[in-house]
Amino acid sequence: MIKVMVNGAHGRMGLTVVGAVLDEPELELAGAVDAIGADDVGELIGRKDVNIPIETALDRALETHQPDVMIDFTQPAVVFDNVMTALAHKVSPVVGTTGLSDEALEKIRAEAVKQATPAFIAPNFALGAVLMMKFATEAAKYFPDVEIIELHHDKKLDAPSGTAALTAKMINTVRAEHRQGHPNEVEKIDRVRGGESGGIRLHSVRLPGFVAHQEVIFGGLGQTLTIRHDSINRESFMPGVMLACKKVRSLTGLTVGLDKIL
Ligand code: NAP
Repeated sequence: MIKVMVNGAHGRMGLTVVGAVLDEPELELAGAVDAIGADDVGELIGRKDVNIPIETALDRALETHQPDVMIDFTQPAVVFDNVMTALAHKVSPVVGTTGLSDEALEKIRAEAVKQATPAFIAPNFALGAVLMMKFATEAAKYFPDVEIIELHHDKKLDAPSGTAALTAKMINTVRAEHRQGHPNEVEKIDRVRGGESGGIRLHSVRLPGFVAHQEVIFGGLGQTLTIRHDSINRESFMPGVMLACKKVRSLTGLTVGLDKIL
């Protein structure tokens, strides 16, 4: 059995993850942590057979329960410290929280090596999203003109999404330096053409009703190609998260991206 602690257990993703860990025969829920404490996480997900409190001090919970893995679905502002705390306790982080900078990733990579404790981070745990990024990278070899639209629920704190940022990064590994749009275009409203990553325009939509969606639109002579992925509920991320929990201890250093363990 792999002992798993869930950090951010009171959140939208955290509660779904708690249910998925409880249903996974190879995993044992070894604790739950969140900025908001609770007497019993089982009560929050309608499971009378579970009686595990949500604690508020990560450090103490790691010492008390000594899990093998800490799943983190918290917030961009705190995820780096959470990961460093887990590694200091030689607990492997499996991270879904987005917003980590390249610099933060390098520090995590170094710490994982120093502590001889593998870490895993995925900007998107949905299999379909991983395929969307792979197909988009393939298409970009033939269609260098591309824009990305990501659409998420309005409680999301960071923009662009980690998936959109990673998609642009992957496309730019195969796409030659390329200027898009009219050279003399003028934005009459500030940033109406979206943000830019390596010459690719990114557009972030935030509205109630969405979960996590992305369109990668390619334009060519007389044609467009759209690759779209929709996570219609948070269950879509669970198989990926469970797989990462089972595999992380067999990795070395820091691994980024679900595609690396499929
Ligand atoms: P959420 O509902 O806001 O949940 C985050 C939870 O973490 C909240 O209960 C929050 O408490 C808690 N928290 C804040 N600071 C904390 C700390 N220092 N220690 C422990 N817990 C803390 O957000 P969500 O929708 O679940 O999303 C969480 C993250 O996962 C976001 O970054 C989102 O983009 C990402 N995400 C990733 C994937 C993926 O596949 N990789 C999929 C979906 C979402 P308060 O409310 O009191 O702040």
